[in-house]
Amino acid sequence: MSIQNPVFIPGPTNMPDAIRKACDMATIDHRSPLFGDILHPCIAGVRKVLKSDDAHIFIFPSTGTGGWETALTNTLCAGDKVLAARNGMFSHRWIDMCERHGLDMHIVETPWGHGISADQYEEILKADKTHDIKVVLATHNETATGVKSDIAAIRRALDAAGHPAMLFVDGVSSIGSMDFRMDEWGVDIAVTGSQKGFMLPAGLAIIGFSEKAMHASKTAQLPRTFFSIDDMANGYAANAFPYTPPVGLMNGLKLSLELLEAEGLENVFARHTRIAEGVRRATAAWGLELCATAPEFYSDTVSAIRTPEGFNATDIVTHAAENYGMAFGVGLGEVAGKVFRIGHLGSLTDAMMLSGLGVAEMCMADLGLDIKQGSGVGAAQEFYRQGAASAKKAAA
Ligand SMILES: *Cc1c(COP(=O)(O)O)cnc(C)c1O
Repeated sequence: MSIQNPVFIPGPTNMPDAIRKACDMATIDHRSPLFGDILHPCIAGVRKVLKSDDAHIFIFPSTGTGGWETALTNTLCAGDKVLAARNGMFSHRWIDMCERHGLDMHIVETPWGHGISADQYEEILKADKTHDIKVVLATHNETATGVKSDIAAIRRALDAAGHPAMLFVDGVSSIGSMDFRMDEWGVDIAVTGSQKGFMLPAGLAIIGFSEKAMHASKTAQLPRTFFSIDDMANGYAANAFPYTPPVGLMNGLKLSLELLEAEGLENVFARHTRIAEGVRRATAAWGLELCATAPEFYSDTVSAIRTPEGFNATDIVTHAAENYGMAFGVGLGEVAGKVFRIGHLGSLTDAMMLSGLGVAEMCMADLGLDIKQGSGVGAAQEFYRQGAASAKKAAA
């Protein structure tokens, strides 16, 4: 098919034409002030999106995964103790990376569909009288299960325990789409990538470091070369990278940040909440349930929808691609075959979302599920008609 539908995978997300065009530019000298004119607005813009006054921002040619590695290798030594919760595929992968770097993991196994328990973190931190735990990891939005965790509550747990550990947050599928407050939540490292909330192709790891994390980098001994923040900071001081920067992508990021600011971050978040609530109403109208087990966990960027016992949820994704040219997300890891995912972040409108819901219900009916055509779409339409006012109420 030469005419393309929007994608409903939770990243990479749909790209506005203006951003695609901004990425497509003639070669410039990447060691000239011309590059500085792209780099410095990107750094300032990312800081605003993170809601931080003075975080040190680093942008690497990489993806979110490289952002995880940047966080770990620049701040820790082999054998350092790290506290993390595993509640989905992405938190699992970050834990796996920690283990491969020889870090000593304290893992809180958490049911997939639940958020991180700040109470459990607090208990563990209180018991760590000798302050061996150096870092607490938190995945803000578990993209595999459509589950949001309360980062402010995790900060309160650290404070209640009087524990000096740093807080590192994976915000790859939340930053730029859901409220994120680096300074207010006392986040020491925030990690994201280009291909989700920023509506760009994959290719950039975007990371914010607090002063405390910068300080930890002075004594960290894990090996890093490509991901060295010192080398990167030295490069920035000369309007450059320590190696060749992906100039077109960075030019796209500059525009993406301008677009987010023009819409207004709070409006961007409200739009995501409204679109997500329509998806949730559709899910309920289909008689299906989310993988997320309680409203406090509902993600505004991705919904993982459970299908009935004995039905392979992945068939919906395959069927949609083959018959309707539409992309949804498959279930990953523990929930493979049990859920399919609708990504609803980035460059998306209510009307685009209705097209996704319409195709999802056609697929489910084609595959023999008892889904009345129009039921989910109708529920979402009724909600979207009420407009932004009710979205604010639903979010409250
Ligand atoms: C997408 C994603 C990642 C991985 O990012 P890549 O860019 O694929 O390396 C990590 N964490 C979360 C929560 C994600 O959604």
